[in-house]
Amino acid sequence: MKWILAFAISTALPAWGALRAGASAADITPQEWPVRLIGNFGLSLSLRAHDPLHVRALVLEDAGTSIAIAVIDSCYVKRDVLDEAKALASKLTGIPSSHMLISATHTHSAPPSMAGDRTSLEGRYVQRLIDQTAAAIAGAHKRLAPARIGYAVRAVPDELFNRRWFMKPGAIPPNPYGETHDVARMNPPAGSADLLHPAGPTDPGFSVVSVRSAEGKPIALLGNYSLHYVGGITGNQVSADYFGEFARLVKQRLAPDDDGFVAMMSNGTSGDVNNIDFVHPRPRAEPFERIRAVAGRMANHAAEIAASIEYRDSATLRAAEAELELRYRKPSAKQLAFAKAALDEPDESKLPRNAKAYAERALRLEAGPAAVMVKLQALRIGSFAVAAIPFEVLTEIGLAIKERSAIKPVFTIELANGHWGYLPTPRHHDLGGYETWLGTNLVEREASVKITDVILQLLGQVAAP
Ligand SMILES: [Zn+2]
Repeated sequence: MKWILAFAISTALPAWGALRAGASAADITPQEWPVRLIGNFGLSLSLRAHDPLHVRALVLEDAGTSIAIAVIDSCYVKRDVLDEAKALASKLTGIPSSHMLISATHTHSAPPSMAGDRTSLEGRYVQRLIDQTAAAIAGAHKRLAPARIGYAVRAVPDELFNRRWFMKPGAIPPNPYGETHDVARMNPPAGSADLLHPAGPTDPGFSVVSVRSAEGKPIALLGNYSLHYVGGITGNQVSADYFGEFARLVKQRLAPDDDGFVAMMSNGTSGDVNNIDFVHPRPRAEPFERIRAVAGRMANHAAEIAASIEYRDSATLRAAEAELELRYRKPSAKQLAFAKAALDEPDESKLPRNAKAYAERALRLEAGPAAVMVKLQALRIGSFAVAAIPFEVLTEIGLAIKERSAIKPVFTIELANGHWGYLPTPRHHDLGGYETWLGTNLVEREASVKITDVILQLLGQVAAP
């Protein structure tokens, strides 16, 4: 009789399609100095890290299907670098590259993640980023164990401010091409008497995915919040911004003694949303003070959600992706002439702000290819879904996806699977401002409409029974 019982148990387990999960983090703090920091105009060199950078990964498996989600402490990572990391991770784990979603947090205090020459200091960093991203996913895969998963979304509006503002006439300076048609201004002076009202909403939805072992031990927590970054790090130091601090504080709250636990914060659709209260200017904070405060409050929300949600021991896992061709924008004859003149002008005080930086971008776009293929992706995890878009996505696009998706709840991870600048809607193109300027915006005016359509199709695919 004994063998019958054993047989029953061994076939019953996989037939239930029980969820397994694993998480892992790998360090990507620079080891060679100085490094350039990207995220701002001009050159900033860093000689030290305020806090470490990581790649954090979560692997889920159910009924023979696996997916991997990884979040990198970087401003953005280009598609070719991520594709290389996925290929390596796929070789190590057997998970198809198409089932991997890898995004950058958008910390503005990290080294660049693109370099053609892998023998240069920056190139060696890119190689390490690739190796460690694959190592984090492989580490999570190695730790796969029976797990339970829960999900919730909570409105946390207080940390969010739309940073694009309508201003009184005459209050918006010319753009870097000397044009004066902008009616929305990014990051206006806080407390200015010229402020009218914000040009867009914020998305207060804080999404939390919590994963526990079958025995109830925390394995991982994935957050998603539409906040560009916090900033306020002194002296050109490398930092993971509030994303890294959130990960550290959630671990402290949920699993202080367990190095196997990994928390991560993915960026939602935050292209026009930051942490600056433009109406009620706040006193200057100490370095890292605001990061710590925002991360602490978000970690408290996350810990409360993790303690109160319902956990399930299985989840239908699906992944779908599509390639979409988008035309690159090209400078107009007038912009091109302005750009060339700007580069020849020795006295920068005679030029609009950042004119030379945008002139170089305009010339690069003029000489560059006509179109690009971008990767769009949707994942289903049980009763909810995740969309992935390789841009800095204006927040109302994420809100529209949440409203129109065939599967709800859903959240969007931006800066995922690549980076092609900002993604404004056609309405925002008409308003102008930083996020729409040629050079910060790279692709055609209708891009957000096309991308939203494809994302909704992909969500429909993964939603199907
Ligand atoms: Zn940005």
